[in-house]
Amino acid sequence: MFRPTDNIAVAVSGGKDSVTLLQMLSRIEKDFPKTKITALTVDEGIRGYRYEAVKIARENCKKLNVEHKVISFKNLYGYGLDDIIEVARENGELTPCSYCGILRRKALNIAAKSIGATKLATAHNLDDEAQTILLNIIHGDAVRIARVEPVIEERVSGFVQRVKPFCEIPENEVALYAYLKKNRFQTTPCPYRFAAMRSDIRVMLNKLEVKYPGVKFTIFKSMEKIRPAVKSAVGKIELKECKNCGEPTIGDICKPCETLLKLKLLKNSGR
Ligand code: SF4
Ligand code: ZN
Repeated sequence: MFRPTDNIAVAVSGGKDSVTLLQMLSRIEKDFPKTKITALTVDEGIRGYRYEAVKIARENCKKLNVEHKVISFKNLYGYGLDDIIEVARENGELTPCSYCGILRRKALNIAAKSIGATKLATAHNLDDEAQTILLNIIHGDAVRIARVEPVIEERVSGFVQRVKPFCEIPENEVALYAYLKKNRFQTTPCPYRFAAMRSDIRVMLNKLEVKYPGVKFTIFKSMEKIRPAVKSAVGKIELKECKNCGEPTIGDICKPCETLLKLKLLKNSGR
């Protein structure tokens, strides 16, 4: 996933997975003097939740002596997630997590590019990956099945290459490690968490895993085998520059801009 000369941006939310990933990568980095690590935290603007997470992320970075950068939805888009959900209650089509995910991906990419990162590491674990695979199948989203992989192999201009070092590690093993290491991480769940279908899939997969141990890993590995066929069926995806913000996109306008436009919240920010 990494080269010794990589400038690695690590997405650190302040939760157990991302704090543990940062801890591990910063420890490994010490053996590679040409590698650089910067932690990126996205402040989505979720009252009563994100403030504590940003604080915890900052404390961990200080302890590990890692540079830390915070990017907020408010600065980038003009609105925090709470404001967006408020408007979306009237005419929105998506769940809070869908708005959050779409806007966070773009925020991380912009922040990673701004520091000249060559890799963007996220702490998605095996549970996250298995859930995403099932969600993409349920939604019949062949493009996402083809594109969302543990290491985005294709280097596309405008996108910092994403890697997921924990993609084969079960969530409870990451949690166990974090507790054993006495890592400080946020334990309060996001107030929007339960509105997403992902939450139901998480419960279902956890039940299946108890009955059939290894099922999450089997789902992950099955998709690794199937993905090349899906990729060739989908064909090469040509990316253009978004007409509003210049970020890479499949259509004329990127998903985050389109989403804010639908909610009549798009400010011509040039981002
Ligand atoms: Fe965003 Fe959903 Fe995660 Fe909350 S649970 S931070 S809304 S993706
Ligand atoms: Zn755009």
